[in-house]
Amino acid sequence: MEVYKFGGASIESVERARNVADIISENTSEKKLIVISAKGKTTNHLEHLVKAYYNKETEKAKSLFEDLKKDHLLYAQELIKSTEDITPQLEEFFIEIEWILNTPPHNEFDYYYDQIVCIGELLSTYIISFYLNSIHIENTWVDIRDILKTDSNYRDANIYWKQTEECVQKQIVPLFQKKNFIITQGFIGSTNENNSVTLGREGSDYTSAILAHILNAKRVTIWKDVPSLLNGDPKIFPHTVPIKEITFYEVIEMAYYGAQVIHPKTIKPLQNKNIPLYVKCFLDKKLQGTKIFNTDKKIKYPPILVLKTNQILLQVYTKDYSFITEKNLSKIYSIFHHCKIKINLMQNAAISFVACIDTHSSHLDELLNLLEKDYTVKRNENLFLFTVRHYKQNVLREELKNRTVLLTQKTRNTIQMVVQ
Ligand code: ASP
Ligand code: MG
Repeated sequence: MEVYKFGGASIESVERARNVADIISENTSEKKLIVISAKGKTTNHLEHLVKAYYNKETEKAKSLFEDLKKDHLLYAQELIKSTEDITPQLEEFFIEIEWILNTPPHNEFDYYYDQIVCIGELLSTYIISFYLNSIHIENTWVDIRDILKTDSNYRDANIYWKQTEECVQKQIVPLFQKKNFIITQGFIGSTNENNSVTLGREGSDYTSAILAHILNAKRVTIWKDVPSLLNGDPKIFPHTVPIKEITFYEVIEMAYYGAQVIHPKTIKPLQNKNIPLYVKCFLDKKLQGTKIFNTDKKIKYPPILVLKTNQILLQVYTKDYSFITEKNLSKIYSIFHHCKIKINLMQNAAISFVACIDTHSSHLDELLNLLEKDYTVKRNENLFLFTVRHYKQNVLREELKNRTVLLTQKTRNTIQMVVQ
């Protein structure tokens, strides 16, 4: 069997949903577990709804809820000729939200976020599954909340692997004996108290990997609106090139440096079982796309470019011009750790320690206060952190035209620069 994952953009309109049906029905040699996200920008819409509800902006919350209902009912109507049979189940999903809206919030925000936002995936998958059955692509719809079991770390829930595996064996495996396709939701799961949870934005990729891992899938295919992975974000770098093959290791490195390619948690479950991951384009399924896999073969990569914006460079000096010793370093690190601020790049010299961090780190003021008790802190703002793997001098020269480099760090494969 294999796993397909379709993101929100692939089903945002009825035309696109029909295209997804073509893709699914085209290749029937393998049984398929199909993981789907909420349609279009539904997750963002639901985020606004939760915020409005939590801030007690009741009218706004209600009106956003009405928009959600209208949008999905219309979508269902256009895809499925007679919606009599589908409406009762859609209503049940709507009621899950309505119940919450009718009682004032008395629990933490993240809890409500998950109870409300999960409905996006339930709606989209139910409609697509119903539509596929109506055109004789026989499939079973599964509420993944019965299967994917997690702790109650809302908005970033951790999987209970053993329990999830048992549920998959008991509830999913037998379904494949009856039908070749199973349709389910990405991004969501549930606690043992049956509260809904989410796995973090863009978490559907991760769901596909979890299920592929447990089911020993032959492969996972993520259908996107881009022809393949590129060596950089085309919105930032004008001359990107496609990458046809790439190792899991390299993708993890890219994600670590800040490339928004694939949800970083996706890789491990696949890598551990040697399950290749394909990225293909739903707009043109004939395109080759990208294969991500384990291999000993030496792949020749183009320079891979990652730009992180909104960076600050902090220079931390000892007040008495004494050397930065291990003792100082351990104290400085523990302050960063205490404030939960991630250091993107660091370097130390005789009397200074330099760290590049995100401008929007949430405990930045606290960090500065704590550091300034014992050190002098200078900062440079509005910077970029530019990372290039497999760098070549000519590419660096080209990309760094008109920029001032404040700090450079180099290893054999990677160069990182803080630039202005
Ligand atoms: N719908 C969720 C999001 O937009 C999950 C996903 O698309 O993977 O973040
Ligand atoms: Mg999505």
